[in-house]
This record gives sequence, C-alpha cells and structure tokens, in this order.
Amino acid sequence: MGLIIYLNGQYVPEEQAVVSVFDHGLLYGDGIFEGIRAYYNHVFKLEEHLVRLYESARSLGLNIPISKAEMEEVVLETCRRNNLKDAYIRLVVTRGRGDLGLDPRNCPTPTIFCIAASIQLYPDELYERGMELVTVPTRRNLTEASNPQIKSLNYLNNIFAKMEASLMGAPEGLLLNQEGYVAEATGDNIFIIKNGVLITPPPFAGILVGVTRNTIMQIAREKGMPVEEKLFTRHAIYTADECFLTGTAAEAIPVVKLDGREIGSGRPGEMTWELIRAFRELTKVDGPLIFKD
Ligand code: PMP
Repeated sequence: MGLIIYLNGQYVPEEQAVVSVFDHGLLYGDGIFEGIRAYYNHVFKLEEHLVRLYESARSLGLNIPISKAEMEEVVLETCRRNNLKDAYIRLVVTRGRGDLGLDPRNCPTPTIFCIAASIQLYPDELYERGMELVTVPTRRNLTEASNPQIKSLNYLNNIFAKMEASLMGAPEGLLLNQEGYVAEATGDNIFIIKNGVLITPPPFAGILVGVTRNTIMQIAREKGMPVEEKLFTRHAIYTADECFLTGTAAEAIPVVKLDGREIGSGRPGEMTWELIRAFRELTKVDGPLIFKD
C-alpha cells in the first residue's frame, strides 16, 4: 500500500505527491531538510529537529510560511495518517517554484513536504562487530562556502565521500576539513573515547551539529563522563580506546577500524555500548506522542 504524504497543506497519496520541475530544490539544491525518527509512538527529539530546520531556513533567508507548532503537527499527523508508531520521517522545505534563473526572489512560495515511512534498521551484526571507516580524498565543505551546519538539500560533498568510500570497499567514509582535522562521516558525527574522556569535533570543524550527537553528549555528562569538543587529527582516532558514529538513522554505531588500523581492542568498546544502551532507553520516552490514546 502506498504512503500518504503531506504536501503544501494537504495529505495526498504518494502518486499525487509531485513537485514542479521548476522547483529550486530540484534545480539548485536550494532547500533544507530533516531526517527524524519515531520510536514507540514518540517522535524523538522533534523540537531539536525543528529548531535546526528553522535555523537552517533563517541562515538561507528562506521564510517558512508555517509556524514551528504547525510544523510539529504536520510531522505527527503524517505519522498518524500512515499508522506509524516507529518511523523514519523526512521533512523537506524547498525555495519553491521559480524560473530557470537561480535568484530566490523569483520563488514566491516554499514547497513543504513530509514523508513518514517504516524504518529500515541496520542489521544487529553491524553493531556487534563494529564497522570500518576509510578516510576519503574529498574534504568537507568550507564553513565559509557551503556551511555544513545548514542541513541543505545540496549533499554532493557527502555523496562524493560516500562514493569514494564504496570504491575503497568500505561501508562509510571519514571526511577531514580543509585543514586536515577530522570533521565527520558522510551522514554521521564521530566520537572517540580516550582515557575515559568523550571527544568530538566542535561545530566550527565543519560538521552538521547532529541531534544524536548532542543527545549522546548529554547522556555522557549525566553519567559523569568528561566531554570535550575539540579539533583532532586521524592520529587521535588510530590511538583512541573506542570510536563510534552517531546519526538519526544509525543511532550510535561502534567503529573498529580506520584506514586498515584497528582502533583499541578492534572490537566495540564497553563505554560505547553503555552510551548506546542509555540512548535506546531514552528513545522510549522522549518526544511528543503520535497517538494520544
Ligand atoms: N552529519 C551529517 C552530514 C548528516 O547528514 C547527519 C544526519 N542528519 C548527521 C551528521 C547526524 O545528525 P543527526 O544526529 O541530527 O541525525
């Protein structure tokens, strides 16, 4: 059975959820999005995702014509219409329909759509064994050019990196920034643990400031674990005790190898698992309810 999609104020069957070929989201990647998850009838960290969406819009000078409260209802109602209590949700706002020039002033009305689909979980085995990373040749976008903090529809930087990782036979790639410091993976943030300290690159390293990243940092602090946001090079990963990636789809996933070097024991670390377990507990209770009864 097809999905029901929210598109510009209406809930329509997916066959009718079509966007103009003159939409600047398509023509120029001029737009923004969020990937959100629902667990156990809760939309996890919905407020945080909406804050990031509206901040991305603000930075791009894109006026979202509905309020944050209305957008929250769009997300919840899209889940309800598809009878989903666990879902992967894609919320997109584009500059809208314009002419063939790139000037956003010729796009009067943004296009808004929301898709809620059943979630494709990664196999347990990947979490139990841990995954392998390779450093890719493509560098992360410059903060002063296409700022990675804006979750824009232009993902070519990440796509190049993903393609290069695949060509090198690895499931995921590590992007360095222009100065050679570690930034992030193609769709996930990176953490290392060294001598009991949780370390991750700061926003100015050229990263998307992940909602999962922030949640993991908060969990760690609540457990009394020291957390540092600081620049580091690949050497710090090669010599770390533990390493993992975070993202909405992956949650937190252990990394056991970078560029062919084993990290720590070469197996998922104990502290990583402790954080993953605490994260999974939080997904049971955090966020607004989809169905009220
Ligand atoms: N970095 C990039 C480039 C991403 O696309 C994502 C996924 N949205 C993340 C990090 C992780 O962010 P989040 O935890 O908010 O999903």
